[in-house]
Amino acid sequence: MDMKKKVAFYTLGCKLNFSETSTIARNLVDEGFTRVDFTEHADMYVINTCSVTDNADKRFKTIVKQAQKVNPDAFVAAIGCYAQLKPEDLAAVDGVDLVLGATEKFNIANYVNDLSKNDYGEVHSCEIEEADFYVGSYAIGDRTRAFLKVQDGCDYKCTYCTIPLARGISRSDTLENVVKNAKEISEQGIKEIVLTGVNIGDYGKGEFGNKKHEHTFLDLVKALDTVDGIHRLRISSIEPNLLKNETIEFVGSSNTFVPHFHIPLQSGSDVVLKLMRRRYLTDLYVDRVNKIREVMPDACIGVDVIVGFPGETEEHFLTTYNFLNTLDISYLHVFTYSERDNTVAAEMEGVVPKRVRSKRSKMLRGLSVKKRRAFYEQQLGTMRTVLFESENKEGYIHGFTENYVKVKFPWDPELSNTLQEVRLDAIAEDGLVKCTILEQAGATLR
Ligand code: SF4
Repeated sequence: MDMKKKVAFYTLGCKLNFSETSTIARNLVDEGFTRVDFTEHADMYVINTCSVTDNADKRFKTIVKQAQKVNPDAFVAAIGCYAQLKPEDLAAVDGVDLVLGATEKFNIANYVNDLSKNDYGEVHSCEIEEADFYVGSYAIGDRTRAFLKVQDGCDYKCTYCTIPLARGISRSDTLENVVKNAKEISEQGIKEIVLTGVNIGDYGKGEFGNKKHEHTFLDLVKALDTVDGIHRLRISSIEPNLLKNETIEFVGSSNTFVPHFHIPLQSGSDVVLKLMRRRYLTDLYVDRVNKIREVMPDACIGVDVIVGFPGETEEHFLTTYNFLNTLDISYLHVFTYSERDNTVAAEMEGVVPKRVRSKRSKMLRGLSVKKRRAFYEQQLGTMRTVLFESENKEGYIHGFTENYVKVKFPWDPELSNTLQEVRLDAIAEDGLVKCTILEQAGATLR
């Protein structure tokens, strides 16, 4: 009989959290635990929380209840950004036994010896200034992609953001370690690596042990480009002021870095950008988009935008809408502003009523659908390479082209985790693109 203790994880939030869950899980497996799915009976449930999630506490309580329903006697631990920001709130939730802050989450094995339940959540938190060391991580997503953490924390002071309070100062992994992790990932047969971090363009900042970094983000990109066995590298999200011409040009000439950029804008109004204390104005953003288009006309460009920030008038919002409407971008991720404790923005005047925030959000989500469709239409008839995923989704297998067009093809398990040359044929009713696999079409013709 397997006497190993079972542990299950639930991750909220971003790719960075996912990569850290993987590392923490691997450490616990090394300590003798067996990892099981969150829906299964486990001895311990670990919830990796996020502070960006709306109604974070409500969501957290629901997940704790979910775990307790499967095993009421299980030990429940909370880690992650929300655990760092509001440890006492999480500790007070019924059923929670342990709350670990930003430095302690990687030492969870030291806190879970006998797994006996506590009457009240035990908190091992830290001052965020203590979170000045770096722990490397990566997560294998759906067996075709991996999220590789290269950087953590942020030194910026955007007025709405709690991430610097939850994750500390900007610091990065060494170049050698990132390359080593990338090799390890490719040896597992994973074809695509997505670089993750809080502010990855800031790569090279901070110290690792006693060693000062001497590398930039461009050095990182160049080093990863030479690692054998990696088919695709994707830069996830990068601040516009940190996306240099040299990086865009290098990506344009690389065979492994794909033509896909996700660049936070947050507002198309300079007035609001200043209120947000972002480090650029719209001129710089336009310049970045134009540079990408000049080097890679077919690149996919995604944009983050926040609506309903305090002080955003109807006019400012319309400026944002028109700015995005005329800009040659491919899709939007729209966030509705919500107040966060201990931020400058939470105290600002000009609060936008909630119903206005949701109306603006709806308008921009509509614009995103239009932008994505226009981008997909431009791509029809072109030949691309698709990395197929591994799930059967109602009789279809899905995948992404290098420039992030989502395609579907009738289910064929042989295609799982393979790269295929395709022709993009038509947009299906669900908005995905139907394609022809060129090799198969060739075989039919012969
Ligand atoms: S750049 Fe701004 S929004 Fe992004 S993590 Fe840093 S402070 Fe937060």
